Amino acid sequence: MSSPRIRPRPLAPIPSSIKAKWSIVIVAAVAVTALMSQIGLHLGWPVWLRPIVAGALALLAVQFLAHGLTYPLRQMADAAKAMARGDYSRRVESSNGDEVGQLAEAFNQMSAELAESDRLQKEFISNASHELRTPVAALQSTLENLVDGLARADRQTLELMLAQSEHLGRLVNQLLDLSRLEAGSDHPATNQIDLGDLLNELAVEQRMTHPLAVIEVKAPMGLRVLGDDLRLRQVFTNIVGNALRFSPHGSPVTIVASRHDGSIRVAIRDLGPGIPVEERAKVFERFWQADGSALTGGGGAGLGLAISRRIIDQHLGDIQITDNQPSGACVIVHLPSSSVD
Ligand code: ADP
Repeated sequence: MSSPRIRPRPLAPIPSSIKAKWSIVIVAAVAVTALMSQIGLHLGWPVWLRPIVAGALALLAVQFLAHGLTYPLRQMADAAKAMARGDYSRRVESSNGDEVGQLAEAFNQMSAELAESDRLQKEFISNASHELRTPVAALQSTLENLVDGLARADRQTLELMLAQSEHLGRLVNQLLDLSRLEAGSDHPATNQIDLGDLLNELAVEQRMTHPLAVIEVKAPMGLRVLGDDLRLRQVFTNIVGNALRFSPHGSPVTIVASRHDGSIRVAIRDLGPGIPVEERAKVFERFWQADGSALTGGGGAGLGLAISRRIIDQHLGDIQITDNQPSGACVIVHLPSSSVD
């Protein structure tokens, strides 16, 4: 394919405003007209011919000088049309030092951000479909076996199907949560919450579902935060659930809440393998799981901490991972305190 013919853009490199450049074009057009009129007079051209030649040459001069001025605008129009078709790869050449050049730069930045968000969205859809496919395929094959008479609808098969459909339901809820949080359409309640009560209740619930779990809670009275009870419960349930999942059987998971520089600090510690330093930022990414962590069983699709971080952000807090001593992970959550100390 032949490359497009590049016409010179004489005013493009001049780092002045578009107003100054158009002034140059107008002055040049007037100068060409005056010069050609004088030449015509000098050469004895008829009166009717002089303005025609002068006007034609002035027009040519305007065409030549103004070419580069609107070039980025035309490119932007083409790129915008391509974007509407889903092609975010087009960029506008922005050598102009004027307002059009600045607009072209802003346009390029916007299309780069749109391209990145399009990439993330596609990645999200592909990861989500992959995660949904596994339990759906498992349910389908169990149902097919039942229909074909290869399996009996006994208690064990039904329990297996129930577990698969529960997993599917959890996954769908997490995907909905995440998309609401990312779209900013999730409006958390703002109630006074006693964090000590919330953590103690959560420990009771976890002990009921994990009868062998050892969960210790240390939280002084009156640690209050302003926020959404259900959402914060979801965050701490996920963190404590992970801690229990990764801890060796019978080893304690400790939850310690305290006041810390005007905020409340909650540290959840376990004696599991811990999270390597280079993976600590990644665990908050969507769908991220350490190699082999699925083998620990009971885990989700790597969405729990991604959701938790967004909920904590909504509450103007902060969540981090550090080491536990002598071993294991320590997840630290800071939330603004709403109690008067
Ligand atoms: P999942 O629901 O798959 O556990 P999370 O977002 O809650 O997803 O956690 C992401 C990953 O972070 C886990 O798969 C695991 O690899 C790692 N992780 C989280 N908590 C711990 C922990 N307490 N100890 C070790 N690894 C952890």
